[in-house]
Amino acid sequence: DERLLEARITPRTKAVVVVHYAGVGCEMDAIMAIARRHRLAVVEDNAHGLFGKYRGRYLGTFGELAALSFHETKNFTCGEGGALLINDKTLIQRAEVIREKGTDRSRFFRGEVDKYNWVDIGSSYLPSDLLAAFLRGQLEKRQQIQAARHRLWINYLEGLSQWAAENDIRLPRVPPECEQSYHMFQVILPSAAAQQALISHLLQREIMAVFHYLSLHLSPMGRRFGGREGDCPVTERVSERLVRLPFYNDMTQVEQGEVIEAVKAFRCE
Ligand SMILES: *Cc1c(COP(=O)(O)O)cnc(C)c1O
Repeated sequence: DERLLEARITPRTKAVVVVHYAGVGCEMDAIMAIARRHRLAVVEDNAHGLFGKYRGRYLGTFGELAALSFHETKNFTCGEGGALLINDKTLIQRAEVIREKGTDRSRFFRGEVDKYNWVDIGSSYLPSDLLAAFLRGQLEKRQQIQAARHRLWINYLEGLSQWAAENDIRLPRVPPECEQSYHMFQVILPSAAAQQALISHLLQREIMAVFHYLSLHLSPMGRRFGGREGDCPVTERVSERLVRLPFYNDMTQVEQGEVIEAVKAFRCE
């Protein structure tokens, strides 16, 4: 919540990390203004938001760095992998070294040094050319892919709005300043029990729907960093009530129709 951000900044704060959840942009005007005022870097987790926009500007182009994911669950995929978008030129060279096992091999290939050497921390982050080709084919078809996802998203919204109103269920809301990336369609149920009941209701009809995410601050690692119940009350409340409906590029109208009918057969107690 950008309205609570400034109060959280301490002398030890180095960066603000925003997650464009479901490919709907965070309130970047407010966030960038606060970050600039406190001289903090902004890093965008744009795993959901490739080709989404905030006030006409692409997500992933606001912060110094932005991360994309091409994991199998995303709009564009090569199974595993991702990309780092670098919007601050001074960070490019080190990023090249880190992805090349801590060596300056990229500079060597460009003829800028006459041999390559180990110069920094790093690991092996290069994707294979086969995976890159697989991904490129989808990026070239991005308009068709995004148009298909747009249709699926609208179908869910139209098909479920009456059911949602009758059962006190919240459908996604996209602020007017955001062009979303149609990454997912999530519903928020009135209670944790209703979340579990909807998931099992769909599972009985052989439809897989999942909740996500678990609150990171309450995970074993989050707790080691000091996370406690109540630290992120909205996250905690939403995490136990949210369900994602099936949503993938080649989902047919018939398949989606079956999901919508199955969801509509569910009533909140
Ligand atoms: C998928 C996802 C990631 C992780 O992406 P990987 O490619 O698996 O590293 C990070 N953040 C969000 C919000 C995601 O959905």
